[in-house]
Amino acid sequence: MHKWLFGLAVAALVIGLVDIQAPVGSRAAMEGGFLLLAAAALTVAGAVAWWTGTRRCPSCAERVKRAATKCRHCGASLV
Ligand SMILES: [Zn+2]
Repeated sequence: MHKWLFGLAVAALVIGLVDIQAPVGSRAAMEGGFLLLAAAALTVAGAVAWWTGTRRCPSCAERVKRAATKCRHCGASLV
């Protein structure tokens, strides 16, 4: 997963959780809900980016980058 995307998702989640403590219907509560939705969307986007950017090593079954020519877990050649 892209680290910056994950950091952004965590930040939105934290701010969203703080804001959502505000009274229901208030502006802060609306923003909190929106940020929580944004955090969920970012997390899913990050997971998809990670999944599509990697493949399974045929030797050890760990996930490695799609462009890798050598597994970083077991050292098997992926060419
Ligand atoms: Zn491997």
